[in-house]
Amino acid sequence: MIGLTRRTMLTGAVAAGAATALTAMPNTMVRAAAPPAGKQIAGWYRMKVGTTEVTVIAEGARISPLPDNFVRNKSKDEVVAALQAAYLSADRFMLPFNSVVVNTGSKLVAIDAGFGPGTLAQSNGAMGQGQANLAAAGIDIKAIDAVVLSHFHGDHINGLVTDGKPSYPNAEVMVPQPEWAYWMDDGNMSRAPDALKGAFANVRRVMGIVGSKVTQYEPGKDVAPGIASVAAHGHSPGHTVHIVSSGNSSLMIQGDLTTLPQLFVRNPGWHVMFDMDAAAAEATRRRLYDRMAADRLLVQGYHFPFPALAYIEKSGTGYREIPIAWNPTI
Ligand SMILES: [Zn+2]
Repeated sequence: MIGLTRRTMLTGAVAAGAATALTAMPNTMVRAAAPPAGKQIAGWYRMKVGTTEVTVIAEGARISPLPDNFVRNKSKDEVVAALQAAYLSADRFMLPFNSVVVNTGSKLVAIDAGFGPGTLAQSNGAMGQGQANLAAAGIDIKAIDAVVLSHFHGDHINGLVTDGKPSYPNAEVMVPQPEWAYWMDDGNMSRAPDALKGAFANVRRVMGIVGSKVTQYEPGKDVAPGIASVAAHGHSPGHTVHIVSSGNSSLMIQGDLTTLPQLFVRNPGWHVMFDMDAAAAEATRRRLYDRMAADRLLVQGYHFPFPALAYIEKSGTGYREIPIAWNPTI
């Protein structure tokens, strides 16, 4: 590139353009005739953990105005300032969703189920893309042996059902025992504040359809060969994270330990409105992030920006996330 000045670049570009136009392109092709595609490309990203293949499946994102009480213990102005500092919009606030499929070599295991395709139309196409992206990634939903849930919030369980039927026809639905115990308890439902009544009703709706496929697992136990579970309660009463391991490699699938990393990894003391027990969620988050930072563990976050994979480092009194670089090979 020695000697390549702006002037030589410009004249070179003009000359190349002119030559192309004169020799190869009929006049009608000079204008862009193709209409804009108007939609995003399929969202899936594949990587290996040792010999285990992991595929991140984009479910889409909720795009909405920033809720007034999004962070319970911070003013909206402070949240807007943090979003702006991260070059994110507070007017069209975007919360992404990304589930995972793990091929252990003997089992095909999905971790969380997204919203399901019924949400596509309601969200102007932003949410409910998971099943289409699963197919685009070459994964047959009928081949999935197990769906392991982190917790029972709607963005993680609604995709278990499509058109009133189980979406994963051949999959066992593995749920954390304390999460099942909390949501399926009639006393808890009757005592729940009004804001939670809808979530209880939604859990009962979904589990009513897939209930015969449900098995409960104890957090701390393996859910499949090479996939361990770790209790991470606070975001919900039975919220559980998962660690995929093969050889010397590991990946933490952190569920909702934090949601948007630009806000909550960087400010672990901020209490997002979705944390059901904010103090427990913060303690859990600090405990696990300290460990992830010390172990330099790769993390997949359900609400991280696609492909939702990052490392966590300590930074001041909090942490910071370092997103991975796109790798064109696996
Ligand atoms: Zn969530």
